[in-house]
Amino acid sequence: MKLKFLGTGTSQGVPVIGCTCEVCTSKNSKDSRLRSSVMVTTDESKKILIDCGPDFRQQMLDNKENTVDIALLTHEHNDHVIGLDDMRPLIFKSEKDMPLYCNSRVGSEVKKRFPYAFADEKYPGAPAFELHEIENKPFTVLNTEITPIEVIHFKITVFGYKFKNLAYITDAGFISNIEKEKLKNLDVLILNCIRKFDPHPAHFILSDVIKIFEELQPKKLFLTHISHHFGLHDIEEKELPPGMHLAYDGLEINF
Ligand SMILES: [Zn+2]
Ligand SMILES: [Zn+2]
Ligand SMILES: [Zn+2]
Repeated sequence: MKLKFLGTGTSQGVPVIGCTCEVCTSKNSKDSRLRSSVMVTTDESKKILIDCGPDFRQQMLDNKENTVDIALLTHEHNDHVIGLDDMRPLIFKSEKDMPLYCNSRVGSEVKKRFPYAFADEKYPGAPAFELHEIENKPFTVLNTEITPIEVIHFKITVFGYKFKNLAYITDAGFISNIEKEKLKNLDVLILNCIRKFDPHPAHFILSDVIKIFEELQPKKLFLTHISHHFGLHDIEEKELPPGMHLAYDGLEINF
């Protein structure tokens, strides 16, 4: 399987509008971060999108991705769902409703955010989704076993997703010991890390991620959902402990 980072930025994206800091003005493409999302390609070349934020259209075009077979949603914050309307070209082409997998709370939020997609009498150009409510237990779709990992993000639960020996977790501020059991013996752990310093009520910062890395000992750990407060990619990458890396938009991992 393959995972490609379509975006590795926090909710405002990097550069931040109007910001003149060294990260936001960097010429290095690795310092430009669209909103966090990944595309997983299964062994049978099916496409699983995780999250569909405001940069979805640009991410599909930039990466020459032409299809999404299903989308998994982590939670309902706009930086993870507000691009769903831009799935319309894929829905029109396939002539099928787009399957969305998420928990029931996120499903009802999607209905509130996009009521016209679920209306009885729909505008002809409206998107169409097929909601699949999932719980915190493994499920199989597209011949691929997916294990949700429930993490805490301020006051809400968020689903991370594990495929084989890789887990993708974004927008976590806390992971319980029960859920950590699912994250043992991983080849790759992808974890959100908003900045280096200053604890955040909803997101891990670098010291939290280093503690989890030491505790769970995945072979590799990639940071994502990164803000402009983290620093320049090329400098910060060298400072991380061996085995830890900053993800960047366009990075691909085979697993
Ligand atoms: Zn987010
Ligand atoms: Zn900045
Ligand atoms: Zn969030």
